[in-house]
Amino acid sequence: MECPPKKWNFVGNQDVHEAASKTLRGVVTKLMGSVNPDDPRTILPLAHGDPAVFPVFRTSLDAENAIVDALRTGEYNCYSPGDGVEEARRALAKYLNRDLTNKLTGDDIFFAVGCNQAIEIILTVLQRPGANILLPRPGFPHYEARAVFSQYEARHFDLLPEKDWEIDLEGIEALADENTVALVIINPNNPCGNVYTYEHLKKVAETARRLGVMVISDEVYDHCIYGCSPFVPMGKFSSIVPVLTLGALSKGWYVPGWRLGWMAMNDPYGVFKRTGVVDSIRSCQYITPDAVTFLQAALPGILNNTKEEFFKDKLQLLRENLDFALDKIRDMPALTCVKKPESCTYLLLKMNLSMLEDIEDDHDFCLKLAKEEAVIVLPGDALGLKNWLRISLGVDRSVLEDGLERLKAYYDRHAAARRH
Ligand SMILES: *Cc1c(COP(=O)(O)O)cnc(C)c1O
Repeated sequence: MECPPKKWNFVGNQDVHEAASKTLRGVVTKLMGSVNPDDPRTILPLAHGDPAVFPVFRTSLDAENAIVDALRTGEYNCYSPGDGVEEARRALAKYLNRDLTNKLTGDDIFFAVGCNQAIEIILTVLQRPGANILLPRPGFPHYEARAVFSQYEARHFDLLPEKDWEIDLEGIEALADENTVALVIINPNNPCGNVYTYEHLKKVAETARRLGVMVISDEVYDHCIYGCSPFVPMGKFSSIVPVLTLGALSKGWYVPGWRLGWMAMNDPYGVFKRTGVVDSIRSCQYITPDAVTFLQAALPGILNNTKEEFFKDKLQLLRENLDFALDKIRDMPALTCVKKPESCTYLLLKMNLSMLEDIEDDHDFCLKLAKEEAVIVLPGDALGLKNWLRISLGVDRSVLEDGLERLKAYYDRHAAARRH
C-alpha cells in the first residue's frame, strides 16, 4: 500500500538514540549484527550480564515460593500503595540494618522497577539547569545514558587499576563545583570486581562532605562477593555525608526479570527531607510506574527465607568459572587480568594492541570476534575503558569453555608474529 501523500507532524525523538547508544543493550545489539548469519554455531553471549538464562543460576526455591505465596493470597493484584507496600519497606529496612549503625526505618525506603528505575528517579529528582554529576570510569552505562537523557553534564573520575581499582579521590576534588549534585559509587564494583575497604569508603565520605555533595551508592551486587574482602555498606558513613543506597533483587538473587529495586536513605540528620529530595522522590513516583505489587509483597519472604547455602552455591560457581577463565587467559599474553576480581560476574582484561595484528582497538577486536567466531564480548570502551575487554562469568560452564576456546582460535589468528 502506498503511503498517503501527507506531511505528518511528528518525528522520533533523536535524543533517545544518543542515550540508547550508550547502554549495554545498544552496544551488544551492534555486535550481534556483525555475526556471520551463515555461521552454523550457536552465538556465545559473553558480553551480557544475565546468568538467569542458564539453569545452573536458577534462583532459590524459597524466593520462588515467596512469590507464589504472595500471589495466592489474592491480596496483591491491586495497584501498589503510593509509598510502597508497608511491610516490605519495614522488612527491607530491617534487613539492611544488619550492617548499619544509623538504623533505617520503613519510611527511609522507596521501591522502584529495578535498580535501573531507581537510577532514573534519583537523576530526575536531582536535575536542575547546569547540573553535573560525578560518575566512575569505568562505570555502569545506565548512568551515562540517563545522564545524557536528563541533560546532565557527566564528569568522570577514574578508578585506578594499579591501586586495586580504588577511586581517584584527588581527581574528584578537581572535578566538583557548585553545580555538582551527587557522587556515584558502585560497590561491589561492576565492572572491576573489587570491593572497597572501610578506610577507603570513609575517605570517599569525607571527600563528598567537603564538597557538599551527596553520595549515591549502587550496591546492587552486595550479595555477590566470592573473594575475601568483606562488604561495607556506604550507609555506615551516613553521619559524615547523606547516602542514598541503591539495590535490587536482580543480581543477588539472579532474577533480573523480577523488576524490584529500591532506594534507601541513610540520612540521620534529615538532609534529604530538608532539601526537598524526599518530596521530589514522592512526586516523581506519581509520574512513573510503581514496582509490581506482588513482588513487593513477596520481599519479606524472599529476604528472610532465602538460605545462606543458595548464595554460597552460586558464588562457588562464579569462583570456579573465574579460575577456569584465568587459566585460559594465561595462553593469551596480549590480554591480562590486572586485578583478580572478588565480586560481581565479570572478568576485565587489558589489551596489549602491539601484540595483536590487524586489530585497531577494542571495538574492532569485538566486532571481528563476533564475525569470525560468533562470540560476543564487551569492548571496554562501552564502560569508559578504551582497549579493555569484559567477559561475563555468570554463564554456564560449557558456554565459558566453548567461548574461551573460540577466543583462543581467534587470538592465535591475530597474534602478532614474534619478530625476534
Ligand atoms: C545491573 C545493574 C543495575 C541495574 O539493576 P536492575 O535491578 O536490573 O535494574 C544497576 N547498577 C549496576 C551497577 C548494575 O550492575
